[in-house]
Amino acid sequence: VHHERHGDAAERMESALIDVVLADRVEMVLRPVGPHRYRAASVLGSVEFERDTGGPTPSYRVRSSTGIDPLAELSADRWIGAAAERTNALPDRQANAYPHAFDSIAQFFDAPHAPDLVAMHTAAHAYGNHLGQHGSLGVTQARAPFIAAGPGVRSQGLIDSSTRTVDIAPTIAALLGVAPHPESIGPTGERRVDGLLRRQDGDPMAELLDGERAEHVVVLLLDGCNANLLHEVIDAGEAPHIAALLARGTGYGHGAIASLPTATLANHTTAVTGAHPGHSGVLHNTWVDRRDGSTPDLLAYDQMFWAMRHLSPDVETLFDAIERTWPGAFSSATFEFCDTGASFSSFALVRDRAGADLPDAEQVTHADPGSVASSEAYAFMSRVDHLSVAHTVACWDREHGNELPRLSWCSLAVTDEAGHESGPHGALARAAVVDSDARVGEVIAAVERAGALERTAFVVMADHGMEQADPALTRPWDDDLVDCGVGHRIVGDGLVYLDRQG
Ligand SMILES: [Zn+2]
Repeated sequence: VHHERHGDAAERMESALIDVVLADRVEMVLRPVGPHRYRAASVLGSVEFERDTGGPTPSYRVRSSTGIDPLAELSADRWIGAAAERTNALPDRQANAYPHAFDSIAQFFDAPHAPDLVAMHTAAHAYGNHLGQHGSLGVTQARAPFIAAGPGVRSQGLIDSSTRTVDIAPTIAALLGVAPHPESIGPTGERRVDGLLRRQDGDPMAELLDGERAEHVVVLLLDGCNANLLHEVIDAGEAPHIAALLARGTGYGHGAIASLPTATLANHTTAVTGAHPGHSGVLHNTWVDRRDGSTPDLLAYDQMFWAMRHLSPDVETLFDAIERTWPGAFSSATFEFCDTGASFSSFALVRDRAGADLPDAEQVTHADPGSVASSEAYAFMSRVDHLSVAHTVACWDREHGNELPRLSWCSLAVTDEAGHESGPHGALARAAVVDSDARVGEVIAAVERAGALERTAFVVMADHGMEQADPALTRPWDDDLVDCGVGHRIVGDGLVYLDRQG
């Protein structure tokens, strides 16, 4: 009886969210409707689909639909190139595409703290007054850049295909030659004999790897960098260091598709572990803990540096896998949330009160003066990124008496901050790519100084995309839900938790 009443509440909540009043702001609503069964509904129609976990990877089939199927378009190759993206900006729900939507939705609701429903914002909705947005399954918000070069990586230039964020950790594990995990679990939850990581939902990228090994891998994560913007800046000759990597390596022209939610904590963790957000313990930046109703907020300054206390013990980071394979090997994670197992971590310095003081503004190099002058957030994040690079360079200069890092994961954040503020095609976002490219150059120079350039593979990537929103459409949806008659809380910009009744 309790379950039926709850199901009815979810149904009524869905109706309220897909009401025509909210059609400009709610793209679609997602929810589970039974074991391995999921529903997506919009103002125009709905679809219900089922997950089959009988094979090595999950498969999906549509069980029913009404009106216009909100998940009818799953292609990843929509709007390739900045010009195409700008021309087709603010796509409505019939124009948008949702790559890997079935898989992305199903994994999300596997999480023990998953909400009852997810309300996905429309592409145009500038909630929180941000001109650039991400978080939804829409292709531009999900699409991150992915470029790799060096030993073990084919030299193909930009290829007309896409990969997935969940494939990044298995790919790096394969590139380094990490030992298979003896108890690896695959994407269906079953034992996986070829798994390199403890929970491996993703696969090594077959198109990318040539079977050789790299002794070292350096990752440069440009948070929230729009893939089309990055390639536009490369083509304009304004990102020479990343351009040189692309010229001798491979880039996915259709990007790396992030998992739902296409947000920072979720997809940093997915990229470092090979586990989807619904399986990693880090579902989003924030959620409701169903045990006690608390709401972790991993972007709050008193929680950010401890974010990985939420990491599931059933997943393994790349840093853990390196330690398992080569005990005592050195690895570094600079300004990376998912740092569990790293020998050096910027966040660990904060946790241990060992000092990670940001440089003064005048000490910061590669920070566009106009952007720094016009945006406090840009200025602040430039200081953070400067320190992240300094920490990574210190590891390559062996300043800790260390061996050279097997894996050096350097996260940079100004691209995300700038993209939110100016939109992905605004001046700040472009300047952030140029600045980040110069920082990539600093790290490459440190590897070269260490004499390891020929033995090191480089990855340039982002955790999710960034999409232009409509500056005229900032109205939040909360006021329109006050009278919906269903007790609920919404956290994380669209995770809807229904009030439990007696
Ligand atoms: Zn991010």
